[in-house]
Amino acid sequence: MNAEIIAIGSELLTPYRQDTNSLYLTDKLNQMGVEVSFKTVVGDSLENLTQVATVAFSRADVIIFMGGLGPTEDDLTREAVAAALGLPLRRDPAIVTWLEERFAAHGWKMAPNNLKQADVIVGATSLPNANGSAPGMWISGKYDGHAKITMLLPGPPHELKALFEEQCIPRLRAKVPAQFIVTRELKITGMGESQCDARVAPIYKTFTDVQTTILAGAGEIQLHLKTRAATLDAAQERVDELVELIEAEIGDFVFSDNGDSMEQIVGYYLQMRSATLAVAESCTGGLIGERISSVSGSSRYFLGGAVVYSNEMKTELAGVPARLIQKEGAVSSKVAAALAEGIRTRCDATLGLAVTGVAGPNGGTAEKPVGLVFHALASDSGTEVVERKFAGDRKRIRWFASQQALDMVRRKLK
Ligand code: AMP
Ligand code: MG
Repeated sequence: MNAEIIAIGSELLTPYRQDTNSLYLTDKLNQMGVEVSFKTVVGDSLENLTQVATVAFSRADVIIFMGGLGPTEDDLTREAVAAALGLPLRRDPAIVTWLEERFAAHGWKMAPNNLKQADVIVGATSLPNANGSAPGMWISGKYDGHAKITMLLPGPPHELKALFEEQCIPRLRAKVPAQFIVTRELKITGMGESQCDARVAPIYKTFTDVQTTILAGAGEIQLHLKTRAATLDAAQERVDELVELIEAEIGDFVFSDNGDSMEQIVGYYLQMRSATLAVAESCTGGLIGERISSVSGSSRYFLGGAVVYSNEMKTELAGVPARLIQKEGAVSSKVAAALAEGIRTRCDATLGLAVTGVAGPNGGTAEKPVGLVFHALASDSGTEVVERKFAGDRKRIRWFASQQALDMVRRKLK
């Protein structure tokens, strides 16, 4: 079953207001196994609205209109939907009474315009609105020979949510076959999006019942898997099966298969191995420490370290010989290694992690261009250095560097 959500209001076509209701509705519909295939935003124009409604009836099974149910001239949803369905409106005396009572209870005088809110499309069920003066509508019938479920909901988010939850969800449940949806998120680092997709697409393409979305971010790729089945177990099984095959193909490029962040994963491993970590950060300026310490409980494994931005601090706080910096340059494999070893010794940590690089946009040379970063991890079994050349602006390069550094810890402890 597929749905179209239609947000109505000229304000939603300006730079100042966003359609947020559809995010809420999409979540609720997905939970019931209804996929959202289209989202449309349309202004308060009878002609455009009727056109949008006509298209929606031709392509979706569940059509939700929201907004434009108020009493003013520009509230035209009832009229447009009625026109698209070829059905007349009737004035509902019960709603007229309800409106009159509502206004009287507040001590307000009802404007004649408000009577428009008592208009109901013939064949529709009116849905009382406990939080406002615009009732919603539920229409279940055939359009062009196909079964359609149509809802008209008020625009204000608190009214829409209450009405949808109380009156639409129970009605929808009765119409939609019971389904269970299972989602899973894999996070991958150390390979590019196209490289990753080239390897995993042949696998996930054979799972036509699992919807797979690949999203590229800075330093990580996310694979979102989603499936539905008649039972929770059946849905779970399909997703697990696909995860297993993907993990077998790209192995430890997958750092998380349950949505956890890199810093959380690194934290798990450090704790599991009873290991401690100290950092010496040059071009990341504390970003690695910030990420690790953002995880609650990190005091069990993160000792701290130093931000060693200047050459003097590299010597003073991490014990890197000044001669070495002079000879090799601060951005070099040897200085990265010395930083990691120095901070490990000074903090008495199981692992010493260091980063030194050119974050840019200035300071690059032909020999040491912007984006060149050395990452080092020192342990009792020696020191490993990884040289990378990252592309992007300063913020991205620093993030990539922190991700690479954390990934070295993950791979070391895995
Ligand atoms: P209406 O029902 O068209 O009179 O809308 C009343 C209020 O609800 C306005 O302040 C709108 O900005 C807000 N609203 C309408 N549609 C949406 C939407 N899709 N998302 C968020 N707010 C909305
Ligand atoms: Mg409006």
